Amino acid sequence: MVKIPEIEYQFSGPITECTLEGFSYPRVSPILHPTDEQSDYLSKLDDLWKIHGVLELEEIAKITGLDWEEERITIYVTKYASPISRPVIIPQTKNPLIAHHISIHELIHQHIGRGRNADRLIKGWDWIDKDFKDESFITRNHIPLHAIHTSLYLKIFGESELAWNFKYDKKHPEYNRSWKIVQSLGHEKVLEEFFPTII
Ligand SMILES: [Zn+2]
Repeated sequence: MVKIPEIEYQFSGPITECTLEGFSYPRVSPILHPTDEQSDYLSKLDDLWKIHGVLELEEIAKITGLDWEEERITIYVTKYASPISRPVIIPQTKNPLIAHHISIHELIHQHIGRGRNADRLIKGWDWIDKDFKDESFITRNHIPLHAIHTSLYLKIFGESELAWNFKYDKKHPEYNRSWKIVQSLGHEKVLEEFFPTII
């Protein structure tokens, strides 16, 4: 059985404050408990996690052939922040399914881009750096990630969610470019080239 980390979603007021105005931003409330609205949002994320997230993390480990290094990962939800992979920070999007997809994106970064796993993928990253040397760092960094995510969408959600993510990232030229590279090469080809090189 594939071992995957336990995921816990938490609201982070301090991160929200930092991303808004720096530390000087006045705290709206000293109360650390989530509001009813936030609790409701967290339970929607938890439900999505139980239905899809567990399967997705198992599938990621199967695709990459690599173990998850962490036993537990906290995903911090904030009002407006840009997503970050370490620690995992995601924005509170209107539709919780979008926050779910962003969580998976950031967790794929963690899985292949850091620690022992990243060391074992050096040859894969060398392939990316050589064959896509004219692309920006962000584009190169997202080629294997979008190949994995494509595979998850097709297996777990279907074409419509994949099409949604492609469209959602269109406003970012570098993300858009890496989706297009994965599309034109085929995600399976990217995975074949990137992962058999595990050392
Ligand atoms: Zn990313």
